[in-house]
Amino acid sequence: MNSYAKPLPQPDIDTQPFWDACKGHELRAQRCNACAEFRWPPQAFCPECYAWDFAWTKLSGTGRVDSFVVVHYAAVAPFQPELPYVIAHIAIDGTNERVRLVSNVIDCPWQEVRVGMPVGVVFDDVTAEVTLAKFRPL
Ligand SMILES: [Zn+2]
Repeated sequence: MNSYAKPLPQPDIDTQPFWDACKGHELRAQRCNACAEFRWPPQAFCPECYAWDFAWTKLSGTGRVDSFVVVHYAAVAPFQPELPYVIAHIAIDGTNERVRLVSNVIDCPWQEVRVGMPVGVVFDDVTAEVTLAKFRPL
């Protein structure tokens, strides 16, 4: 029985490899084998050159806060104990700013989160099957 009360990701054919990588404590994204640009979100073909071929490429695991919100009210009960918390867009280093993950900034008072703040990935094994990628200040 899963005791994790928050909503869990629902991987599909395009996103399953991302979640599999997280379970192995790695960040990966699709990288086009034709033009070498990263793709995000995961998708069937490259938005730059329309090539289909790609490789799931390991990412640095570091990035910076590109934008963020501080959540002070949780409409879903399981999030209430963590209020206030930060939801951020994280631009991942080395991806030409193409990979921007929506995640949490943790281990940092919300008042100290800033746009441009350098962060590093932390893997949170929330269930036996699911690992979430979150970020903390570097
Ligand atoms: Zn391409």
